[in-house]
Amino acid sequence: MSVSSNNQSSDPRTPPASVDVVVVGAGFSGMYLLHRLRGMNLSAVVFEAGTDVGGTWYWNRYPGARVDVESLAYSYSFSEELEQEYEWEERYPTQPEILRYAQHVADRFDLRRDIYFRTRVTAAAYDEDEATWTVRTEHGDAVTARFFVMATGCLSASKLPEIPGLSRYRGATYHTAHWPHEGVDFTGMRVGIIGTGSSGVQSIPVIAEQAADLTVFQRTPAYSLPARNRKLRPDEIAEMKANYRAFRQAQRESGFGLPTPIPTKSALEVSEEERNAVYEQAWEAGSLVAILTAYTDLTTSQEANDTAKAFVHRKIHEIVKDPQTAQDLCPDYPLGTKRPCLDTNYYETYNRDNVHLVNLRRTPIVEITERGVRCSDREYEFDAIVYATGFDAMTGALTNVDIRGKDGLSIKEAWHAGPRTYLGIASAGFPNLFMITGPGSPSVLSNMIVSIEQHVDWVLDAIDHLGRNGLKAMEPTLEAQDAWVDHVNEIASYTLYPKANSWCMGANVPGKPRVFMPYAGGVGEYRKKCDEVAARGYEGFVLS
Ligand SMILES: Cc1cc2nc3c(=O)[nH]c(=O)nc-3n(C[C@H](O)[C@H](O)[C@H](O)COP(=O)(O)OP(=O)(O)OC[C@H]3O[C@@H](n4cnc5c(N)ncnc54)[C@H](O)[C@@H]3O)c2cc1C
Repeated sequence: MSVSSNNQSSDPRTPPASVDVVVVGAGFSGMYLLHRLRGMNLSAVVFEAGTDVGGTWYWNRYPGARVDVESLAYSYSFSEELEQEYEWEERYPTQPEILRYAQHVADRFDLRRDIYFRTRVTAAAYDEDEATWTVRTEHGDAVTARFFVMATGCLSASKLPEIPGLSRYRGATYHTAHWPHEGVDFTGMRVGIIGTGSSGVQSIPVIAEQAADLTVFQRTPAYSLPARNRKLRPDEIAEMKANYRAFRQAQRESGFGLPTPIPTKSALEVSEEERNAVYEQAWEAGSLVAILTAYTDLTTSQEANDTAKAFVHRKIHEIVKDPQTAQDLCPDYPLGTKRPCLDTNYYETYNRDNVHLVNLRRTPIVEITERGVRCSDREYEFDAIVYATGFDAMTGALTNVDIRGKDGLSIKEAWHAGPRTYLGIASAGFPNLFMITGPGSPSVLSNMIVSIEQHVDWVLDAIDHLGRNGLKAMEPTLEAQDAWVDHVNEIASYTLYPKANSWCMGANVPGKPRVFMPYAGGVGEYRKKCDEVAARGYEGFVLS
């Protein structure tokens, strides 16, 4: 498989043998952690597998990659100077623009000198007597630290499909999450793309413009709304900059990390005409939250959700000329229960003569062959195959590291029936290990920069609390953890989220336990709970 230009030698520096905090990952989480740790005069190293900062936006360089939260909202709030000086160009920036932002932050706060790039962390073990973690890297280095923070991202452990014959294929293959830094020119090629989640929806229209022929293999269709992306206007940038403090506060108190009007009506208490006018407005606005928060009950009532689902189905049928293709593109699960997408010309792309949709529910893939993809009815030949097959989400990057807590307890074993955390931040048996946006926190159901900043601040306040009170370690009790896991499940059970076979449920990874992993109670509510835990002297944790 062609991957990014990341096969360079390891970081030439040797990390220190001992620091206060080891951080894994130099995406937005790890970068902010490092900045704050320096402010607390704690020594830290950050280990990062990639060659530069940016995390998601370093790896996912596939054509069309964009954020689907607006730039002025998908940005750090911790520095007013940064907020004021940074100039975003687009409403929904492309991957290069977000990567530039991450690089600017790294330069501005001089972060790189404590980040060891090209360095994958492979193992970490807790020494109970010393109350320290020893963290090991792929290059054989070992660093001992009091605190160990996994800032490894919810969507960073990429996933290939489990199809027989993957290695047999003779043409070029690409995974959207490991896109070559130098780009790929598909001109004149017959291309197959497997997967129609966010990465597929974003890349398909762009690849279709280049390739001679593009065949899309779809198992589960995505809901997608037009992004209506555009350059930001100077007046809207100025207005946001003048009001940033109030906006950030509203983000923190909101449901999704994005301030939106709070719905007051059920979708079922208004006329069909009124409802469709509201959905139409959301469709025109190019905003996912606008449709998801249009009514009080879209995430909780199947009947209410069906009205939004019918609206999107109608749109798909209006746009896509071939009725069978349109039908195949219509999702059968409730809107919003798998991550919906924002696109640029996604459905329109299926009207192109060089684009073909294969519905894998009718003709499943049997194997990858030397020449291409064999489905149950025929073989397709390609010059290149793109795997837009996503991630082992939320837990993959955590369990990929051999993390051993007290008594050698492995996190993989502790989580064999699904992740078990307290607040999505810590796990019983693993003292002084913290996770940023871990399973059991709002994470992927939110504007993640808001959730990242909240977790980093909470974790560092906890570390500070230990230091000021002469304490060495903290660890959740099993009771507090069990109660939190029950609470996360209970909240999910009030919603329609578990009804979709989504990566939030672990459904894209064969053998992974089906558990709805994020906390669906909303960013604002969640923050209150975390703050209450801290205010009560870290209730639910054993401090020693
Ligand atoms: C295609 C795509 C689109 C997205 N769009 C949005 C969006 O619109 N809105 C939104 O809020 N969020 C979005 N996200 C989620 C996005 O991941 C977060 O917004 C945010 O960038 C996560 O930052 P992070 O630092 O927590 O994790 P990441 O950015 O994933 O960074 C984690 C880093 O840890 C490193 N790492 C992992 N394991 C190891 C190891 N063992 N050793 C060393 N290094 C390791 C990885 O290399 C990576 O660089 C998107 C994600 C993807 C993949």
